[in-house]
Amino acid sequence: MTEFTGLRAVVTGGASGIGRAVAERLAERGANVAVLDLDPSGVHGPLTGIRADVSDDAGVRAAVAAAAERLGGLDILVNNAGIGAVGTVEDHTDEQWHHVLDVNVVGMVRVTRAALPHLRRSAHASVVNVCSIAATAGLPQRALYSATKGAVLSLTLAMAADHVREGIRVNCVNPGTVDTPWVSRLLDGAEDPEAERAALNARQPLARLVTADEVAAAVLYLAGPSAGSVTGTALAVDGGMQGLRLRPV
Ligand code: NAD
Repeated sequence: MTEFTGLRAVVTGGASGIGRAVAERLAERGANVAVLDLDPSGVHGPLTGIRADVSDDAGVRAAVAAAAERLGGLDILVNNAGIGAVGTVEDHTDEQWHHVLDVNVVGMVRVTRAALPHLRRSAHASVVNVCSIAATAGLPQRALYSATKGAVLSLTLAMAADHVREGIRVNCVNPGTVDTPWVSRLLDGAEDPEAERAALNARQPLARLVTADEVAAAVLYLAGPSAGSVTGTALAVDGGMQGLRLRPV
């Protein structure tokens, strides 16, 4: 038995990277887990994969309803699905701004809105949003992405305030640079991916990237009953990047 035994969780974007690690660790600890993802074809084992695009409101409502029915309710929501954007304010069209904001910010709103009626019936309700150090760090070449994560941070605090009296806790994690397929895709685009990876590692305070399991451990702490008095917080999992005032330039 663990503190997650019998708890029911939905993880968005849980087919890859951080979301996958969160879903797998939750399931290992006895939670019943549904993964909502654009492509759940690789989701196996004890995890239930449900196809969903967080930018499609009707699809999100149907997917969350299906997850809650399959799991017999819902205690934990991990809003993790997100996409990146590289560039300054001059580099993106309005359509790109709308699209990334729609996935990274409104996507969280849609899934949370659909999940709240189920969370209200839970004795251990909690939401964890996957934010980023980009929310507050002032990263170069991340204007659009940073704006979305700044919104996620504010949204986390607002949601925590709105639902605290209902016993629903809302927190976020702020990862630094995490070794996931997302980062591998960025590195693969470089002229010399191996040299680029070595340089990226060297720029980290711990001289290595954060692992998806390290972020998952923080998400599980915030999601679980052990954090029963923790709401409205942002937990950095960034190898010291923010606390030590270092920048991943
Ligand atoms: P990833 O690309 O490995 O996984 C993202 C998952 O989200 C994929 O399975 C993808 O199919 C899914 N997804 C994307 N758009 C979706 C949509 N519209 N609807 C449903 N699912 C969708 O990425 P990751 O590195 O694991 O990132 C996960 C989260 O962590 C994101 O919110 C990202 O902003 C955040 N984050 C990542 C890093 C990092 O360095 N990797 C750092 C800070 C924050």
